Amino acid sequence: MIISPKTLYDILLNTFGQQHWWPIDEKYHLEQNSDPRFEIIVGAFLTQNTAWTNVEKALNNLKRQKALTIHKIAHIKDKSLKTMIQPSGFFNQKAKRLKLFSTYMEKKYKGDLQKLFSQETSEIRHELLSLKGVGLETADSILLYAGNHAVFVVDSYTKRISQRFPFLISSTSYEEIQIFFENELASTISKKEIVSAYREFHALLVKLAKEYCWKDKPNCTICPLTTLCKKCL
Ligand code: SF4
Repeated sequence: MIISPKTLYDILLNTFGQQHWWPIDEKYHLEQNSDPRFEIIVGAFLTQNTAWTNVEKALNNLKRQKALTIHKIAHIKDKSLKTMIQPSGFFNQKAKRLKLFSTYMEKKYKGDLQKLFSQETSEIRHELLSLKGVGLETADSILLYAGNHAVFVVDSYTKRISQRFPFLISSTSYEEIQIFFENELASTISKKEIVSAYREFHALLVKLAKEYCWKDKPNCTICPLTTLCKKCL
């Protein structure tokens, strides 16, 4: 039995409900008159190799110091930035990457994210990937959640579930998995709804992986997908 990504998406949505990703503090940005998209970008850098709970602590530190803007991060002292983002781990490396991104954005776009995101998806992706510390998952998370561009994010959870579920794909390559999901979903979801579907689907796959489909010992006996899953058939 082969299952399509759209069928899995519908089941996950019915089972878990909407996840409303990416989580941002809208109240903070209203009060500070700051761009909430930058919080998503900072989160995308900070979440590399760490749990989201640690990212939240780092983001809260940045908010407490009112430092969650491109201008502030571009000009803040390295030591202060490192201290603020310390809870997210790898803080020396991440501080450098955030500084580099913010300085670049300030120089090239005068800190205006709209200028970046108003370009063609492939151009922005290419540009993001040319920056140090921006890999495929980070670039695509930024494009989808901050830039509103229709790009399917593939992370380790998506790869794991793609291997365990009876999909018509066996590749573990980022690009091949991405093309597979994008082609399958684009044929069943309208263009108007595709960005929100990509966002929800990614969040739902993360939820499935975190709650049931663990790396070493998946909790198949209580997983809501047991009767459909290749691993259990
Ligand atoms: S049934 Fe098991 S392997 Fe399949 S998705 Fe659920 S937890 Fe993962």
